[in-house]
Amino acid sequence: MSNFQRREFLTGAAAIAAASAVTMVGTRRADAGDPSFMNNVPDPLLSGKDLPTFKFELEKSEAKVIGKSTAREATVEQLPISKGIAGVSMKLEPGAMRELHWHATAAEWAFVDKGRVRTTVLAPGGAAETNDFEPGDIWYFPRGHGHMLECLGDEPCHFVLIFDNGYFSEFGTFSISDWIGHTPKSLLAKNFGVPESTFDGFPKKEVYFARGALPPEPAAVPLAGRHLPRQTHKYRLLADEPLVNNKGGRLWLIDSNKFPISKTVTGAILDLDPGALRELHWHPTADEWQYVFEGKVSVTMFGSGGRYRTETLEKGDVGYIPQGYGHSLENVGDKPCRVLIGFNSGVYGEIDLSEWMAGNPLDVLATNFGKPASLFEKFPRKDVFITDKDGPEESAPKRP
Ligand code: MN
Ligand code: MN
Repeated sequence: MSNFQRREFLTGAAAIAAASAVTMVGTRRADAGDPSFMNNVPDPLLSGKDLPTFKFELEKSEAKVIGKSTAREATVEQLPISKGIAGVSMKLEPGAMRELHWHATAAEWAFVDKGRVRTTVLAPGGAAETNDFEPGDIWYFPRGHGHMLECLGDEPCHFVLIFDNGYFSEFGTFSISDWIGHTPKSLLAKNFGVPESTFDGFPKKEVYFARGALPPEPAAVPLAGRHLPRQTHKYRLLADEPLVNNKGGRLWLIDSNKFPISKTVTGAILDLDPGALRELHWHPTADEWQYVFEGKVSVTMFGSGGRYRTETLEKGDVGYIPQGYGHSLENVGDKPCRVLIGFNSGVYGEIDLSEWMAGNPLDVLATNFGKPASLFEKFPRKDVFITDKDGPEESAPKRP
């Protein structure tokens, strides 16, 4: 727990219990997301009469550009509600590399949209993995693990990154050129056992996107030889059958049950046909981050106290639903839509409204709404999950 988070934690009604609870909160933070939420301290941003916006037009925002490579980010700076998750859309030109770096405050999850990407990642203990990725593949790098990303082949690539911390900025990472460029040559010479002159002409500041020759295929062996980690960082998400395949849409979802290294992030691809609806639901243990690859999606959010808000997301837009807030996604365009969805928990969980109601007897529903019990005979007996414009069919199981 950082000083900032500790301060937040101590501000509020639970301060009395803080001494014993800090340890518990620290270990459970990855499961539950924003620490202020876990402590039941109201988030000022979510405590107003109206809900704040939960949409950001990421692909229309200003990019960091070097050559033909670009990076655009959505953090609490651009989208204040997104405290639990930040995201980046990155494009690399052929021969370009997002240089060796690490993230002190976030794990990195990614989905490859176009082109091919190679990564290397190093864990404490020296285990290193090099992987090549194609569209539909994902990676996960635990917080602090050193990595690089490079475009493979002679076509540009595009991928979307998710970080399990909305305060994380891609433009404040720990990059190798920045570090070496600011360390005295004498210290570097001692560190590596090479002459000081070795470092003549090294970059003085962060390179960020490095540019060079097209990478060899297959990848060359690391200087230290091969020392593979126990768990792989790569998963071929769209090579699997969809977890849910309903009339109206499909869902691919992967959490740490099938991708064990991904302890703090669950990722999903949701395809909806025109008019289809991902039903009203919420996630008890995670915030939800959305990125629209294709189509036009109406997202609704329910925030208690009569607060309800709708945003329309189009290609390149980002949406965000805080942990526990009710929401739905509906394709309101005339073409199929595809949405990337990320959660800041390695274990997926949801409660769908149809499933909740079906989990109660008729008399409870009758009393709750002040209506005859017979009315609720017509309601679904199972989870709807996704339905097309003609109404629900029973859903396939959706536990990863
Ligand atoms: Mn990174
Ligand atoms: Mn959801």
